[in-house]
Amino acid sequence: MKYLIANWKMNSVNLDLWEQEFLDFINSNKDFPQPNEVKLIVCLNLYDYYVFSEKINTSKNPIFKNISLYAQDVSRHEEGAFTGQISSKFLQKIGIKGSIVGHSELRKNGDSESNVYEKGLKLKDEKLSNILCIGEDLETLKNHNKKSFLLNQLEAFCKNGVKPDLLAYEPIWAIGTGVEADSENISSAVSIIFDFLNENKINCPVLYGGSVSTTNIEEIISIPGLEGCLVGNSSLNGEQFAIIASKIKS
Ligand code: PEP
Repeated sequence: MKYLIANWKMNSVNLDLWEQEFLDFINSNKDFPQPNEVKLIVCLNLYDYYVFSEKINTSKNPIFKNISLYAQDVSRHEEGAFTGQISSKFLQKIGIKGSIVGHSELRKNGDSESNVYEKGLKLKDEKLSNILCIGEDLETLKNHNKKSFLLNQLEAFCKNGVKPDLLAYEPIWAIGTGVEADSENISSAVSIIFDFLNENKINCPVLYGGSVSTTNIEEIISIPGLEGCLVGNSSLNGEQFAIIASKIKS
């Protein structure tokens, strides 16, 4: 099984157009992977949730119908005076299946390692899945501190029964830059992550995120150990997202 995750961030996506672009591509590509070959997840702006979930639930297309909807963030609190936040309880109530935690854009805005862990805990309490994002910045990479940095992020999250359900290695220097990480860098991160997961008896798919596109997906997905990708910019267009999915084969 492979995984492809769209992170729409705070972009306005024309939902009718996205659906049409996606369906046009899969209808003209009969060998498009089935839901048991590639799991598609869209992390959308919650504002779009009702309209998009209605489209999915009523769709006659089995591939579109099997897209799972996730949030991009969740509160580390349960309930109360936390203006602008959304709890895992509310996510669960509306039908969201899980959430990204630890995205670098949120870490940059103050999400500490312990906040990310607490968010994982809140999702677990509601039986929702997490997509844990980890990754180093350029300075850490240049100073050869990538390994200790990634291990620190993993150790801070994986405790008291909290563990990643999907784990995306997203080097900060490759997110939204149009320049993906090179195979050597991705491979070394994957092996650091696998050593940690094996030592801690955690079984979880490892994905890559950072400027994935229709042109570099084949090279990226051929890196041993990778089971999918998390895609930002290239997921805003339904056709591009479908092309990337078609190139991720089990
Ligand atoms: C992301 O948002 O996590 C991401 C990988 O974005 P992009 O694909 O645009 O680099």
